[in-house]
Amino acid sequence: MRAAFIGLGVMGYPMAGHLARAGHQLAVFNRTPAKAERWAAEYGGRTAPSIADAVKGCELVALCVGRDDDVRQVMAEAAPSLEPGAVVVDHTTASARLAREEAEAAAARGCWFLDAPVSGGQAGAENGQLSIMVGGDPAALERVRPAIGVYAKAIQHMGGPGTGQLTKMANQVCIAGVVQGLAEAVHFCARAGLDPALVCQAISKGAAQSWQMDNRWATMAEGRFDFGFAVDWMRKDLGLVLDEARSNGARLEVTALVDQFYAEVQAMGGRRWDTSSLAARLQR
Ligand code: NAP
Repeated sequence: MRAAFIGLGVMGYPMAGHLARAGHQLAVFNRTPAKAERWAAEYGGRTAPSIADAVKGCELVALCVGRDDDVRQVMAEAAPSLEPGAVVVDHTTASARLAREEAEAAAARGCWFLDAPVSGGQAGAENGQLSIMVGGDPAALERVRPAIGVYAKAIQHMGGPGTGQLTKMANQVCIAGVVQGLAEAVHFCARAGLDPALVCQAISKGAAQSWQMDNRWATMAEGRFDFGFAVDWMRKDLGLVLDEARSNGARLEVTALVDQFYAEVQAMGGRRWDTSSLAARLQR
């Protein structure tokens, strides 16, 4: 496909790389040009001088930027240059309201906007093993599914515009509670004089098992947090979740509490620490 990828961060850089390696005619754009140049040197695609230039003539426009305002800015610049029939796939974790607004604006131009947030982290992006949850027109998704499938192990259509983002919110609710539970278990083991590695070995084959346990138990016990999914991003995501819950009446008691714990981690200097740094709060 003729495609563009906007936003070459931790996630976008390897995702765009998979598209280029699959043989799509790809143009990339990043706010800080040096990243785009580094990407082009590695993958051989074209760096575009502007977003408008990148999306011109494209059937697929993928983006993975930071938050709502970034998506708004990218779409304001891209919209006038979008080819009729183009499908925009937004991998940013953003609000459901933004997704509905952008889907409506795109439809008015004869294009499609799919909200398609991802789960699986940096490793999932690098290995092409992301889970993608998609809201928007199902036929538009089918047109781009083979292309975006190069960086996914699962692509699930959820419903109309915004439902991809709502699904990602449910994902973050699950993660918040599980990470806090794991942090408390590691803390408890330290106080009880147990060997954390031995405890993990004993309980990780049973009902307590989780991705967080498999991947974060050891680093929590070591007090190592300088990697992974940043606390600032998690607070952005939990802010989206709690806003949505305020309007739909969902009771998210643990999520709201864990959000405040993350605020404490930020105050400890942990804005860029991995989300498992809830353990650092207990280890103080
Ligand atoms: P990141 O490393 O900060 O990357 C964001 C990229 O978007 C940066 O390269 C940034 O450019 C670019 N960008 C931002 N605004 C832009 C704009 N207006 N125009 C052009 N480029 C723009 O973040 P990330 O970790 O890749 O995360 C991206 C999104 O995926 C976020 O919504 C995040 O919540 C979500 N996500 C992340 C993970 C993860 O593990 N990291 C997992 C799942 C979902 P600069 O180089 O100028 O900063």
